[in-house]
Amino acid sequence: MNSLLDLDFLNRFTRELPADPENSTRPREVTGALFSRVTPTAVAAPELVAGSKECAALIGLDPAEMDRADFASVFAGNALVPGMDPFSMAYGGHQFGHWAGQLGDGRAINLGEVRGPGGAGWTLQLKGAGMTPYSRSADGLAVLRSSVREFLCSEAMFHLGVPTTRALSLVTTGDQVMRDMFYDGNARLEPGAVVCRVARSFVRFGSFELPASRGDEALLRSLADHVIRTSFPELGAPPAGTPIPPETYVAWVREVVRRTAVMVAHWMRVGFVHGVMNTDNMSILGETIDYGPYGWLEGYDPGWTPNTTDAQGKRYRFGNQHQIAHWNLTRFASAVVPLVGDVAALQAAVDDFQSIYTEVWTGMLASKLGLPEFDEERDGPLAVELFRILELQEIDMTIFFRELAGPHGEDPLAALSAACYGDGFEPATRSALEAWMSSYQGRLAALGVEEDARRARMNGANPRYVLRNYLAQLAIDRAAKGDPDGVRELLEVLRRPYEDQPGRDEYGAQRPEWARHRPGCSTLSCSS
Ligand code: AMP
Ligand code: MG
Repeated sequence: MNSLLDLDFLNRFTRELPADPENSTRPREVTGALFSRVTPTAVAAPELVAGSKECAALIGLDPAEMDRADFASVFAGNALVPGMDPFSMAYGGHQFGHWAGQLGDGRAINLGEVRGPGGAGWTLQLKGAGMTPYSRSADGLAVLRSSVREFLCSEAMFHLGVPTTRALSLVTTGDQVMRDMFYDGNARLEPGAVVCRVARSFVRFGSFELPASRGDEALLRSLADHVIRTSFPELGAPPAGTPIPPETYVAWVREVVRRTAVMVAHWMRVGFVHGVMNTDNMSILGETIDYGPYGWLEGYDPGWTPNTTDAQGKRYRFGNQHQIAHWNLTRFASAVVPLVGDVAALQAAVDDFQSIYTEVWTGMLASKLGLPEFDEERDGPLAVELFRILELQEIDMTIFFRELAGPHGEDPLAALSAACYGDGFEPATRSALEAWMSSYQGRLAALGVEEDARRARMNGANPRYVLRNYLAQLAIDRAAKGDPDGVRELLEVLRRPYEDQPGRDEYGAQRPEWARHRPGCSTLSCSS
């Protein structure tokens, strides 16, 4: 384990790839380069709200280093440690279905790539550390509420077993930031904050779309080759200097398709709605990235989105996420056509999305139901009927699946009714669920599923604790008053989401009624 000053920086992205020759933050189109060097903007009074010790260990940083007086300064961007080479990346993207041109890291500044235990490279990235050439008309900053949400959700998702970028630290800046939270003309000052995100790579689908949109094949190729060589060693690409053959690019696209399908299946397993699946928010590693107006299902509703900016079309609603992932993959594959030439091979790779997704998702569904595997013919109708029932009235998805594991005893519906918002099961739901239960139990009996094994399997796939929207908001309220313990306690609970934690029942309970319409507890805008 290293001290902060002894981190070993690899910085392969900035060492190996074309840089923007200009080092100012003047807003501009950056062509012929993949990144611009920038310096984080100093803040008034950095203070650590919370840190993740697992994430520190990941990069080989001694977790005790988070207690250093200068830790918050470094991770607010006030001081660089030797070896850091800060930069922001250029990328484009399709936003809400439309090509948006150059976007880029408007408020993200990568500090550098650290060599972690075992040699893996981990990029440290500050979000909210000030203006970059990609800030366009915005301020490069982030507010406390969205930073608490990003910090907690990154780590919660990791502990849930969902592929995700990580979060090392959450620091308040002591500066105030102007935001119009509901885009309704009521801007006010809010506390500023910076999250340090950590990932093997922050390259997005949109990173390839930008050079492709400009016809810059050389730049596109240098990025693709770098990503394949550094992040996809399993593809066995030849070393730099020898051209990568077309079939390796195709294999790479196939792998991105597979990883993206796995990621979305996990979202569906835990009831997560990303909220802004623009192609600039899709990691090339198939990790959940950019926690903005995301949300967690309370009542099971495939039509739900937390994002008020998407309230009209609900493009990014829960039940549409796999379709959007597929659409986004098509944008990504289109961008890399010039590297391969063979459109049909790429088309075939992307067309496999649906079958891969179905296979992964039904495998997870089998775990959620405690079945050894998913038999489409027998278990398909069982699953369809269950999800139909869950929509009959407002039924909490997380509580329902957790309680479905049992033990059930005389009245299996008694425990399940803890998932109902309102006065328990309505008659129509009750009778449908009783019928379903008897089919389900019949199926378990026919398969000879052993009770303890079933429960263990289900409890490993159905979390007790997720980052309920209102829980995040309560932690934000406390942090805004200068009390970091709400964030820290919540992080502690979310470190073990599949274990029943005595004394922490309220964290796994239904959303209270007061939170149904409270801003931040139900819906959010993109303002952050
Ligand atoms: P998002 O929808 O949050 O992923 O952001 C879309 C684009 O807007 C990205 O290029 C972001 O870097 C940029 N952006 C969002 N908020 C800000 C901000 N406060 N300052 C500068 N750029 C921003
Ligand atoms: Mg983004």
